[in-house]
Amino acid sequence: KSGGKKESHKASFEIDLPEAEMGKVVTRFPPEPSGYLHIGHAKAAILNEYFAHQYKGKLIIRFDDTNPTKEKEEFQNSIIEDLALLGIKGDVITYSSDYFDKMYELAVQLIKEGKAYCDDTPLEQMRAERMDGIASQRRERTVEENLKIFNEEMMNGTEEGLKNCVRAKIDYKQPNKALRDPVIYRCNLTPHHRTGTKWKMYPTYDFCVPVVDSLEGVTHALRTNEYRDRNPQYEWILNALNLRKVHIWDFGRINFVRTLLSKRKLQWFVDKKYVPNWDDPRFPTVRGVRRRGMTVEGLRNFIISQGPSRNIINLDWSLIWAMNKKIIDPVCPRYTAVDSINAVPIKLVDGPATPITEQKPKHKKNADVGTKPVIYYNTVLIDQADAATIEDNEEITLMDWGNVIVKKINKKDDLVESIEAVLHLEGDFKKTSKKLTWIADTEDKVEVELVDFDHLITKDKLEEGDNFEDFITPETEFRSKAYADLNIKTLKKGDIIQFERKGYYSVDTPYAKGQTPVLFTIPDGKQGSKK
Ligand code: ATP
Ligand code: MG
Ligand code: MG
Repeated sequence: KSGGKKESHKASFEIDLPEAEMGKVVTRFPPEPSGYLHIGHAKAAILNEYFAHQYKGKLIIRFDDTNPTKEKEEFQNSIIEDLALLGIKGDVITYSSDYFDKMYELAVQLIKEGKAYCDDTPLEQMRAERMDGIASQRRERTVEENLKIFNEEMMNGTEEGLKNCVRAKIDYKQPNKALRDPVIYRCNLTPHHRTGTKWKMYPTYDFCVPVVDSLEGVTHALRTNEYRDRNPQYEWILNALNLRKVHIWDFGRINFVRTLLSKRKLQWFVDKKYVPNWDDPRFPTVRGVRRRGMTVEGLRNFIISQGPSRNIINLDWSLIWAMNKKIIDPVCPRYTAVDSINAVPIKLVDGPATPITEQKPKHKKNADVGTKPVIYYNTVLIDQADAATIEDNEEITLMDWGNVIVKKINKKDDLVESIEAVLHLEGDFKKTSKKLTWIADTEDKVEVELVDFDHLITKDKLEEGDNFEDFITPETEFRSKAYADLNIKTLKKGDIIQFERKGYYSVDTPYAKGQTPVLFTIPDGKQGSKK
């Protein structure tokens, strides 16, 4: 929004795009509509948008929909919504499937020029041959034979067609295995969510991406550097088809400790009912972290601060939550809640016998947040944990009220059952060591449910060969009850608040008659917090 902010973002980027001309840069974000957007995708989307704006160019949002088995309209719609949530609109939305006709023609062209062949080598054998640098027995099929298989068998998804795929004839002995005749077309009989049953064969990612990038005028294709070995393959395809070149620009994937960023694995958690859905607050999806209390600004600041780093790092969640805290702390209203289990009543002998309501600031350091009613009454509730530390005759401070002097502590075993005290409002709160949160014990208090979460995975970093299913955290949801002050009734879903001395919370279920409000703990990045 502000020019100054953009500047500081730029300063954190050490690298500019190669041969980027002001006004001419075109980038693209190509999600496959096979799941909801996660925080890794958010990095890719934000970086692409960042560069498009930086160079006053264009951002294409392209649905990379070439695998009907995994893709759904539901995912497509959710991706558009989530991008909007992140403030990313894109100048156009396109679909790889819009280019199926064109890609078909180009595949025919490759076959005709002897640059691609049909292969029915069984999958396992093909994999082994690629590993060992052995030529496929089908590599020298004639152009006529290849065209016939492609145009008749594969095109119609016949039994013979299903056995075949098309491979680019690059070099079966290349040290870079990505160049060992990669598959560029394969059959799939599942109806496509946009083109229906028109096609029985689809281009692979490796063929589709360079072709569509080039056709759409992309100048800079940002890719995570796990694809680096496939860059020569990308270039080969453009060369072989005589298509306009595209700059490939690598950046590092982001990963987080004890977190899976794979749509397939996230889908598994949904299918196995470890979480009810993709927007679960334990999920690293855009929806999940938003529900957990992540602000769009916090998320964007975090991604931009990571910049286009090429290191693949396993980040700690505390970094991103600490950044979020900086955004929410100065503006979120502050209320009070007391643990309802074993809450301790303090009887203020000379306190107001009927409740008195006063307007107080919602945020002591930010008057713009407004005011809230606070109820004063001769019985207040405090946390058992606080009560347990109070000594006979101690002078304590009730926050935003004043000092009181404890006269009597009634205990049963180790539990404090009640306390009697007298007001000492002229006392100096600077001289007391305990400043306690409290709420008036009137009918206006509201019982709420507070929920905290743990990571779904027990191991910081899953290694190659680890099966994630062996590292499932047994318990990841922790619920507790509290009494909150009456202001909780005014909150809406998604509101972010602080309960003083407890922490930050996001309202997930707002108050309604007969319905307990539910609030999620927002991690604040401090050591010891769970996420
Ligand atoms: P997943 O493994 O979750 O299915 P993907 O890479 O297959 O991820 P796509 O929808 O194809 O999912 O990805 C869209 C874009 O997001 C790609 O450009 C991809 O490189 C990028 N991306 C995916 N995961 C990450 C990540 N962890 N960090 C950075 N970028 C990512
Ligand atoms: Mg993908
Ligand atoms: Mg992936």
